[in-house]
Amino acid sequence: PTRIVVVGGVAAGMSAAARARRLDERAQIIVFEKDRYVSFANCGLPYHISGDIRDREDLLVVTPDDLSRRLNLEVYTEHEVIRIDRVAKTVKVRDQRNDSVLKEHYDKLILATGATPLRPSMPGVDHPYIFTLRNIPDMDAIKAVVDAGVFSAIVVGGGYIGVEMAEALRRRGLRVDLVEQSDQIMASLDPEMSRDLAYHMESYGVHVTLGKGVREFRGEDGRVEVRLDEDDVRFADMAILAVGVRPEVKLAREAGLEIGRCGGIRVDVHMRTSDPSIYAAGDAVEVRDAITGEWTLMPLAGPANRQGRIAADHIFGRESRYRRSQGSSILKVFDMTGGGTGVSEKSLRRAGIHYRKVYVHPNGHAAYYPGTHPMHLKLLFTADSGHLLGAQAVGFDGVDKRIDVLATAIHAGMTVYDLEELELSYAPPYGSAKDPVNIAGFVAANLLRGDVTPWYAEEWPALAEQGGVLIDLRTAKEFAAWSIPGAINIPIGELRGRIDELDEYRDNGLYLYCLSGFRSYLGVRQLTQNGFKRVYNLSGGVKTFMAYH
Ligand code: FAD
Repeated sequence: PTRIVVVGGVAAGMSAAARARRLDERAQIIVFEKDRYVSFANCGLPYHISGDIRDREDLLVVTPDDLSRRLNLEVYTEHEVIRIDRVAKTVKVRDQRNDSVLKEHYDKLILATGATPLRPSMPGVDHPYIFTLRNIPDMDAIKAVVDAGVFSAIVVGGGYIGVEMAEALRRRGLRVDLVEQSDQIMASLDPEMSRDLAYHMESYGVHVTLGKGVREFRGEDGRVEVRLDEDDVRFADMAILAVGVRPEVKLAREAGLEIGRCGGIRVDVHMRTSDPSIYAAGDAVEVRDAITGEWTLMPLAGPANRQGRIAADHIFGRESRYRRSQGSSILKVFDMTGGGTGVSEKSLRRAGIHYRKVYVHPNGHAAYYPGTHPMHLKLLFTADSGHLLGAQAVGFDGVDKRIDVLATAIHAGMTVYDLEELELSYAPPYGSAKDPVNIAGFVAANLLRGDVTPWYAEEWPALAEQGGVLIDLRTAKEFAAWSIPGAINIPIGELRGRIDELDEYRDNGLYLYCLSGFRSYLGVRQLTQNGFKRVYNLSGGVKTFMAYH
């Protein structure tokens, strides 16, 4: 029988081991995990700290005993693999309970060693009340301090773990500071899309500081002093460091396996490393970006599970392939949801890929049925064929399903014209007869067909300085409350009767806008059919403009 050794017993490792058993009842499958827990729910850790998941045991999805009984896996916890001998096809394993060392032979080895939280080497970073969160012991340590009744925390890092932890600690009643070095939280989104999430955190009392990095930590036991750029000093009872993860590749590197430019293990489409007897899967590997084709790291649970399964498939002769990674991800921020799939605008710019974009703000479900709010939805697509490149959505209800429909559309290679035609389920509590995904498709297809030419919030104030005339098509009341400086107000209902007023600006370029882009779209259609040539519609309207300025 084939002897498979798996290193790492969480998402990728356990998926590989379980799949291997389903494919071969006779295989000998041995899993080594250096920690005390296997197959636990890392993604659930913040929610036990917050109190949402009350019972700690709920996070321990299966125990080594279950795995032995149900799947006939040999699972050894507190066993660290410390060396791979590729010639002899053996691994050296340290039993941490008694510090003894054993040797195990493999026919196929699967490295699912995951990733480790970054702990930047800076003064004071080893303070006992500075925590990272990756596994059950980390969670227990944080929760013990919170349960003991500390009053305040500083979360360093505005990625999803930082944001989830800020929410968890705030909900436990702590005063929470979130500090992020870049100018936005949730780097997977574009800055204007993440902005409402940061405001929303603030509305719940999380103090969000952007654009300041940590220089050093100080402090005695029980009190952490965090020194930021610009001599900004913060104090708290504890700090959470959530500044990213690094692939855990020590074993692979020492064994001479190929490591990629991003620091992850290089694998082929079957998850095979540079040694055909050794596979790797999960956060430890590099993947190719689905859109740009570049090597990248995408430490997410879905890819980890799929990759583990594919490695096992290939070991048993199946041709399963891991296609590229799309980076579909989603985050709960108090009452809001933000997520994205495919590539962001900033990544497209970096990669030098030509693209077009639209913003729309449809409601999560029918406006007349209670409980809905407009979402920000952004679509990125190719300028010629309209193939989808990326999508992001931020809002309250129905964000998750739109992200997933768009993730499926990107995976299927669809265009914005396909989105116009998608037949999606509808009843008032769940959606609209024209679903937000259809609406994004209409607006994007209108752009590509030349029915309307957009202008973008980031082009202001330059376009006004160049003589462009701004026309606000909202009501007089909306205009009085706030308008883009220099704009002229012509409510959409009055436009037909007042077209003559715009004659003098015929050659200037008319930059129309309204709250979300629909009334101004109607305005563009009226004016272009009246012979105006240079008429543009603000994509996403005031709602997107506000997110930029
Ligand atoms: P891991 O889960 O890290 O498992 C690797 C295991 O290998 C570890 O247990 C480690 O101890 C063990 N190991 C390493 N080296 C050795 C060795 N030499 N010998 C023996 N054992 C070894 N992803 C999402 O998609 N959505 C989410 O909402 C989400 N939330 C998250 C929240 C938190 C707090 C965290 C920490 C992660 C979250 N993730 C989320 C990421 C997701 O958990 C990871 O992508 C996934 O767990 C990766 O699986 P993996 O098996 O590659 O690595």
